[in-house]
Amino acid sequence: MTAAQPFGVSGTPLSEWQNSTALRGALAVTVEELVPAGARLVVLAPHPDDEILTCGGLLAAMLERQDDVQLISITDGEGSHPGSVQWPTSRLRIARQRESECALASLGFDVPRLSWQRLGIADGQVAEHAESLIALLSEDLRSSDVLLTTWRHDGHCDHEAVGHCAAQAAANAGATLLEVPVWAWHWAEPNDPRIPWDRARKLSLNDDQQMRKRRAINAHLSQLQPDCSTGAPPVLDPITLERLLQPFELVFL
Ligand SMILES: [Zn+2]
Repeated sequence: MTAAQPFGVSGTPLSEWQNSTALRGALAVTVEELVPAGARLVVLAPHPDDEILTCGGLLAAMLERQDDVQLISITDGEGSHPGSVQWPTSRLRIARQRESECALASLGFDVPRLSWQRLGIADGQVAEHAESLIALLSEDLRSSDVLLTTWRHDGHCDHEAVGHCAAQAAANAGATLLEVPVWAWHWAEPNDPRIPWDRARKLSLNDDQQMRKRRAINAHLSQLQPDCSTGAPPVLDPITLERLLQPFELVFL
């Protein structure tokens, strides 16, 4: 998820989200409404694992339409363990890419056939490459595409930068933009007015999709274990994971 976990431990627990009237009021949406037949789903992942955390369930629902999915990995996620001897950046760059491959295979994707671009922008520095990223995306996108990425106000510098770039590129190309909160589940409050509830739609996940998403997240081992060289807790601790593994995915239209 990172560069370097920018928030304190725990955040808003799942039990509080479950009592959120705003969340309960979010309208339901179907896969076909989000990604109409014939449209391409282009997923922009700021870090390896964001493709699963934002839309692992939607991707599992798209297994029959794998040719309609394109993944763009913005960074290699090498900034997740600052100062670590156990996880130096050179190791993270390779390991996190492998984890993404395993995660997508766990979802059920035929990974060698997947349309997948890795841009290798430095973790934590996406904002500095905004102009070239917008240009690249604008050139690649078609007006019939559905572009999905992290919410531009998610509270993490790369998530926000990618969200802003995606919004601009989608506008340039006439494509549809879907934004997904990741860190907002941590810092926001259950009926938080900073969340654009009027744009929020809930995609329900069936048991199989939830199981595939959970299995895919479990492939991101570097993010799930404490770091013995620095004493840092796992990037994706159990409280974070339970918020991100609800039986639905929330998207902002
Ligand atoms: Zn991330």
